[in-house]
Amino acid sequence: MAAQAVEGKVAMALRRVIHRVQAAAEKAGRRAEEVRVVAVGKTKSVSLIRDVYDVGHRCFGENYVQEFIQKAPQLPDDINWHFIGHIQSNKVKPLLAAVPNLDMVESVDSEKIAIQLDRMVASLGRRPLKTLCCCKDEVCKALGIPEDYCELSMGMSGDFEQAIEMGSTNVRIGSTIFGPREYPKKEKKESVNLLTSSIS
Ligand SMILES: *Cc1c(COP(=O)(O)O)cnc(C)c1O
Repeated sequence: MAAQAVEGKVAMALRRVIHRVQAAAEKAGRRAEEVRVVAVGKTKSVSLIRDVYDVGHRCFGENYVQEFIQKAPQLPDDINWHFIGHIQSNKVKPLLAAVPNLDMVESVDSEKIAIQLDRMVASLGRRPLKTLCCCKDEVCKALGIPEDYCELSMGMSGDFEQAIEMGSTNVRIGSTIFGPREYPKKEKKESVNLLTSSIS
């Protein structure tokens, strides 16, 4: 029963976030459709993510490989998954194998990983993944591609409205939708809240 109440809250929180995205885009003279909302469910249960899915959201992000590989197969395959965490080269294959509907890796931090992702995707016969790096303008200039073609993934719960104002096309929102994350005790102080004390 308690879980039910929490799930309703999550769907409502998503709606509020979408309104805020629309308002921020409007204020910046941009179209709301230019901004994708990635619902970041890391540390959150499959059923909470499912609740956000059930109100029509399809874009979700995760940033721990192990957790992602475990959760993604339990969720519908029309989700557009974004991987937003650090990935080691030996995890590229298991990640792609476990998540056929992986749409984008936002966090490619080396050429080696980019090449590996490319190869693996090609060998699996999948459509190419989108990969992102930072520093949109400079990257676009350096690669000689039009800026409209480039995405900028910037903005989380605390700053997504400013990020939209500054041109972000992809905001990654976790705690504002799913509530504060509950990490085991050794994690950073700011994530410690009343709920963690019931675990330890
Ligand atoms: C956890 C996480 C987010 C979401 O953070 P919130 O502040 O909870 O919105 C966004 N991006 C990355 C890379 C993350 O790891």
